[in-house]
Amino acid sequence: KIYYDSDADLDLLKGKTIVFLGFGNQGAAQAQNLRDSGIPNESIIVANRQDSYAEDAKSRGFNVEHDFPKAAKVADVLFLLIPDQVQPRVFNEQFAPHIKDDAVIVIASGYNVFYKLLNFKPTQDVVMVAPRMIGSSVRSLYEKGKGFPCFVSVEQDGTGKGLSIALALSRAIGATKAGAIASSAREETAMDLFAEQALWPNIIMLFREAFQVLQEAGCSDEALCYEMWMSKEPAEIFERAAEEGFIQQLKHHSSVSQFGQLNGALKLDGSAIRNHFLEILHNQVLNGKFCQEFSKIESDLEKEGDENPLNDLYKRSEASELGQAEKRVRARLAGLL
Ligand code: NDP
Repeated sequence: KIYYDSDADLDLLKGKTIVFLGFGNQGAAQAQNLRDSGIPNESIIVANRQDSYAEDAKSRGFNVEHDFPKAAKVADVLFLLIPDQVQPRVFNEQFAPHIKDDAVIVIASGYNVFYKLLNFKPTQDVVMVAPRMIGSSVRSLYEKGKGFPCFVSVEQDGTGKGLSIALALSRAIGATKAGAIASSAREETAMDLFAEQALWPNIIMLFREAFQVLQEAGCSDEALCYEMWMSKEPAEIFERAAEEGFIQQLKHHSSVSQFGQLNGALKLDGSAIRNHFLEILHNQVLNGKFCQEFSKIESDLEKEGDENPLNDLYKRSEASELGQAEKRVRARLAGLL
């Protein structure tokens, strides 16, 4: 099901105090869109610690509240727009004990709701309005009078009006203009984590191995980097895939290329990778194993140097032939890129 502006009633937001927790990528874009949709500025509060994000909100004319429990007490609607990994701590400690029993809590990602990491009261509405775009595009598409792809769902319907309020909020941030797609926290989380843990790791691995095979066959670093990604050809292919169709975009390629790609893909047996994908989806994502493992290292991600597991992963990934060759090429081409 796809919801459009005509399915949503902005009047449902009249008289409601809307709090945006966070004024980062999504918070800044969604708060400005909502205000430009006619929600009065005095009904909007940005809850943020006292720092540059808060200053940014103030400079754009928003009312800013640094005291989170105070913001929680007045919120009829709370947009949770701080990073996923800090949401449980901040929401459960500073908002949940104070927020109204019939408040609407809006999430922009399914993760914390699917894994049940947030403490809601059963009388509250929990809705997902999850743009499929970075914040700057959420804002720029709205300014151009266009919508942006977005998932919408009701995760908990405490008031019985969850869907109509979710649609009103989707319309206010500009999401129903292009059509907001009915989804769920489970679906959003499954697809997101699957792409991150199954699809893209395989794509990185394919590029890494392809690079090494071609390098060993005598291809130069420069030629390989440009052939494989620096020319931006893959970006162009994906753009055409979005506009014209995943398969149909192939028609822009030469006959040799079309034959090679279509015939090659049909000849490949997907069963091994399919089993690997199923394993990741069911035994890593949907059963919560990844979430449990990630929660153990989450706090280390704020550390400096070798204590931060991400730094070690970057170091090992960049040690590949692809990583090393690209460094050499970028150093040689410094100033030209
Ligand atoms: P950001 O990283 O841009 O969030 C920054 C905001 O969070 C700032 O206001 C920051 O203020 C605040 N913040 C960070 N840490 C804390 C903390 N410990 N306590 C209180 N406030 C904190 O987040 P995004 O906008 O990227 O993501 C928000 C939500 O939107 C997430 O659920 C995400 O999954 C979802 N989403 C994000 C997309 C994107 O493009 N980034 C796309 C679609 C959905 P300060 O540091 O001053 O406290």
